[in-house]
Amino acid sequence: MAFGKLIDILKKQNRPAADLEFVEKAYHFAAQAHQGQKRKSGDPFIVHPLSTATRLAEMQLDTKTVAAALLHDTCEDGDCNRSHIKNLFGEEIAFLVEGVTKLDKIRYKGSERSAESLRKMFLAIGEDIRIVLLKLVDRLHNMETLQYLPPEKQKRIARETLEIYAPLAYRLGMSKLSSKLEDLSFPYVYPDEHDWLIRTTKEKYQTWGKYLERIKPVLVEELLKEEIKFLNVDSRIKHYYSLYRKLLKHDMDLAKITDIAALRIILTSVEDCYAALGIIHKLWPPVPGQIKDYIALPKPNGYRSLHTTVFGPQNNLVEIQLRTKEMHEEAEHGIAAHWAYSEYKKDSNKNRDRRGVSFADQKQFSWINQIKEWQKDIENPDEFLESLKIDFFKDRIFVLTPKGDVVDLPEGSTPIDFAYHIHTDVGTTATGAKVNGKMVPLDHKLEVGDLVEILVQKGRKPSSDWLKFVKSGEARRKIMSTIRKVQDEKLFQKHGGEKAEFKITARDRVGLIRDLTDIFARQKISIQGMLTDEKNKNYPLINIKATLKNRRELEKLMLKLKEVKEVKEVGFKLLS
Ligand code: MN
Repeated sequence: MAFGKLIDILKKQNRPAADLEFVEKAYHFAAQAHQGQKRKSGDPFIVHPLSTATRLAEMQLDTKTVAAALLHDTCEDGDCNRSHIKNLFGEEIAFLVEGVTKLDKIRYKGSERSAESLRKMFLAIGEDIRIVLLKLVDRLHNMETLQYLPPEKQKRIARETLEIYAPLAYRLGMSKLSSKLEDLSFPYVYPDEHDWLIRTTKEKYQTWGKYLERIKPVLVEELLKEEIKFLNVDSRIKHYYSLYRKLLKHDMDLAKITDIAALRIILTSVEDCYAALGIIHKLWPPVPGQIKDYIALPKPNGYRSLHTTVFGPQNNLVEIQLRTKEMHEEAEHGIAAHWAYSEYKKDSNKNRDRRGVSFADQKQFSWINQIKEWQKDIENPDEFLESLKIDFFKDRIFVLTPKGDVVDLPEGSTPIDFAYHIHTDVGTTATGAKVNGKMVPLDHKLEVGDLVEILVQKGRKPSSDWLKFVKSGEARRKIMSTIRKVQDEKLFQKHGGEKAEFKITARDRVGLIRDLTDIFARQKISIQGMLTDEKNKNYPLINIKATLKNRRELEKLMLKLKEVKEVKEVGFKLLS
């Protein structure tokens, strides 16, 4: 991968000379910073940022993102000299590079935490969609060179790619990138299934490929005859991981899958898409119920096309997809394609088929409502950048544990909220906290992306002052419960015993009262009074009074009472 190639791409896109100089400066800085470093493949390290930058340039991302891609790993060891980069390249580049570095801290463990919340968090920490795009392309190159890593790392990274990165790319409408990430991960995550699939489908893929090549000229001829303008007719074969997923839904039966192979026609206007659909249906009859109009009703990720499945020659089922060039670019590059339009194709906007570009009017990316905002025509570049900031998780913040696990908390949360979320014991025994390596007070307000560490001391008890600043209901509940326990304990100690009243709600049954009193008897506690309130006939309220020696005795009793058959609820009150 040579730097010349990157410059050639940028030149072809007619970017200003100043932009080329800027990128060159970033390249030299990165080459210097990575001098002597090698990738696990043995390649000089600079190959990696250069490959990332080149891909982003091909996707027509703005010059700043391309430059940030070149610099993105120069801060890797946390000792990033942000001010150095800021001085040399400006605040925006420093912000992008820092964002990528922040995202690097996140680790997906594939355990109890849902992948979905991790994806959202990824976007929230990304702040600027360009950081997310950079990270996705960065991951693509890392996946392409995964074979050089030790097997354990391969598996972890591939799984993370499959669960987080690929779906994220898909959500952003970048289906080409998403498919590539999936197919690169597939053999590492499901090696046996992958081998099986390749073995079983090899012949089928070849047969289908040949068949499509044979029928393509028939279709082309028909379109020409009807004077339909089209730019390209291409065949596409379903990518492996997508086929695997589909097979899982269809009893692993290849015969049940009709869209392994498809013909894709790129046309010049929306009208021609519909006209061509009619012509195809005259040529080959459609399978009823298989016509999908994603132009009128785009997929949630913004995908638009017409799909139909027809009975082709020899009665083979063939899927045919029709779309305009804009739709095609959007289908392949999603959000990145739109970014490119706004930046470099503004001038030609007027000449374009309005329906082809009315991206903003569609319910695109409904998942990310804020992104709709920047899909509207924005004239002012500053405003445009501002609108790229993702702040749609206004009421939630995502912070990290020292191991890189993600914790999702209400906005305004403090280290105490964090501690209770990790574990009740961590909350109860918390004595101090570090945020991003620095000591902070326990009421410190956490921010998105903070790395939080809690210092604990055995035997410590929560302070009622904490109730003044905690934000999460979870922490509040747990603090109150502990404080109550401590208070009760003090009462027991003061009097050497306490009179307690138990309130038990249970469904009435024969022998209920006997079972309850037995529990007291077995613990050698004498009952001092018992009342049964039968206002609710089926669920009587039973009230028992007894004197207990200490809090432990009380807790043991509570546990036993709750275990009695048909008991629904047990509460207690100390009477002194
Ligand atoms: Mn990287």
